[in-house]
Amino acid sequence: MSIKGLIDDLVSANHILFKEGVVDGFGHVSTRDERSPERFLLARSIAPATVRARDVMEFGMDGEPLSPRGRKPYLERYIHSEIYRARPDVISVVHSHSPALIPFGITGTSLKPVFHMSGFLGAAPPIFEIREAGGPATDMLIRDRKLGAALARSLGPASFALMRGHGAVAVGGTLKQAVYRAIYAEVNARLQSEAMRLGTVNYLNDQEAANAARTIDGVIERPWELWKKRVEE
Ligand SMILES: [Zn+2]
Repeated sequence: MSIKGLIDDLVSANHILFKEGVVDGFGHVSTRDERSPERFLLARSIAPATVRARDVMEFGMDGEPLSPRGRKPYLERYIHSEIYRARPDVISVVHSHSPALIPFGITGTSLKPVFHMSGFLGAAPPIFEIREAGGPATDMLIRDRKLGAALARSLGPASFALMRGHGAVAVGGTLKQAVYRAIYAEVNARLQSEAMRLGTVNYLNDQEAANAARTIDGVIERPWELWKKRVEE
C-alpha cells in the first residue's frame, strides 16, 4: 500500500472508532509505517472524529514525533511506542476508554467471550494495574516510556488488555484487525453485562474462542467496508 493509502486508512480508522462508540473526545489509533517498521503513524493530539491526513505524524520507537512542526502529540503516545517495541507482530494499536469495558477492569469479574465475534478475547484478557509500575499516586495516564513498557508487559502476547480504572488497548496484525477488536471488545462487554443480569453465562470455551477468531480474521474486510461507508455518509 502507498503511504497515502495507509494514512487514508488511519484517518478512516479514527472516524470509524468514533462512529462505533469506541472513542469519544479521547482515545487514539496508530499503525506501523510499513516502509519502516521502526516508525509508526499517529494523529496529533485532537479528537479522533476530527482527524485529517495532515494531522497524522510519524513517530520513532522512543514515542517522539520525527517532525512535529508545531503539532502537539498525544500525552499517552508511549502506549503505542512501547507495545510496538515489545511486539514485532503488532502492526496497529487502539487505545480507548470505551465505557462498557470499564467495569471489567475494576470488579474482579473477568471479561470473557460471550459470542463468536469476540473469540480473540481468549480465556480472559490481562488487566494492567498502574499502581504496580507507577505507585499509588499516578493520574492513571501512560505519560512516559516506563509506564508504557509496563503496560506492554501486562499485555504480553494477548490481543487485548484492560487498564484498571482507565480503559483498554486492542492490538492487531493489521489496522483493520485492531479496529475490529476494539469495536467487538466493547460490544462483548455490553452483551456480557446484560447476560450476567439475566443469569449464569455460558461462555465460549478456549477452543471455540480460538476457532471463531481464526474464521472471523478471514472476513475482516466485510465489516471494515461497512464501517467506512457509514463514516463517509
Ligand atoms: Zn487513556
